[in-house]
Amino acid sequence: MPGPRRFPAPQSGLVVPRFGGVATFMRLPLFDDPAELDIALVGVPWDGGTTNRPGARHGPRQMRDMSTLMRRVHHVSGIAPYTLARIGDLGDAPVNPASIDDSLARIEAFFARLHRAGTVPLAAGGDHLVTLPILRAIARRRKLGVVHFDAHSDTWDTYFGGHKYTHGTPFRRAIEEGLIDPRRLVQIGIRGSLYSRNDMTWAHDQGIRVITIEEYFALGVERVIAEARRVVGDGPTYVSFDVDGLDPVFAPGTGTPEIGGYSSHEAQRMIRGLRGLDLVGGDVVEVSPPFDTSGGTALTGVTLMWELMCQLAERVAARRRPARRKPRRR
Ligand code: MN
Ligand code: MN
Repeated sequence: MPGPRRFPAPQSGLVVPRFGGVATFMRLPLFDDPAELDIALVGVPWDGGTTNRPGARHGPRQMRDMSTLMRRVHHVSGIAPYTLARIGDLGDAPVNPASIDDSLARIEAFFARLHRAGTVPLAAGGDHLVTLPILRAIARRRKLGVVHFDAHSDTWDTYFGGHKYTHGTPFRRAIEEGLIDPRRLVQIGIRGSLYSRNDMTWAHDQGIRVITIEEYFALGVERVIAEARRVVGDGPTYVSFDVDGLDPVFAPGTGTPEIGGYSSHEAQRMIRGLRGLDLVGGDVVEVSPPFDTSGGTALTGVTLMWELMCQLAERVAARRRPARRKPRRR
């Protein structure tokens, strides 16, 4: 490997105030080449899979803006992600606002390039359908486990008679396509009214571990974390966070809010509880700025990205360590 790695640093808030400058994710430099990064922060400004209130296409821009509030060191774990991994803003994945199929293809191609470079993706949606092309790009040769935070299972089959690609279907499609091992998929916070009594039958038949919000509150955060860790085990695991898993008191700026969810602090604790798992990427989706007049939901979304980024950075550093170790002398 040529020379020591250069770790990009975010613009210091003590040099340029955090409300100044051009907004990038976490105030990091902008990159074009994923090979320069261990972890790429990527926007996916697309909401063509939305079935109700739209607007998540505007998520990445507002999340970049609110992300300028983030600093450099995690206040609980002490993780300093920018000293552990090369992290940068890789810009937005290309999308076509006039075509679902073309958008899915463009998003997949973008993340495939990133994956070929050995870079770990951390994406900001966009609606939840964007998770499908990301998984197509990074799970082709290995089925992934997934920790999925959401009010909805997103395992519906079709919409309006035959349409297979909406933000209510990505996890069903991903299982059908062999991208996810359903027995290593845990869904946390599921609730909300159904179209029919059978809506969850398919998910249960696949062996998905569905933790409804009722079970979540009965178990408590620590036991939910333990259960999520048991389900995904030590295999490669993706984390997908739909902000509507949170109570709409904490995240009102989203397309399909459902009352009675977890708090933002509980969500932070759950992500911290994933420490040490073999995390290979993640996303935070469904922030919809037109319904987020205070910017509070975007702030919540990027803070969860920050939490996840700290875990990913530690994981990247841990993976690098054995390769650097010199052969032991006799
Ligand atoms: Mn969702
Ligand atoms: Mn949802």
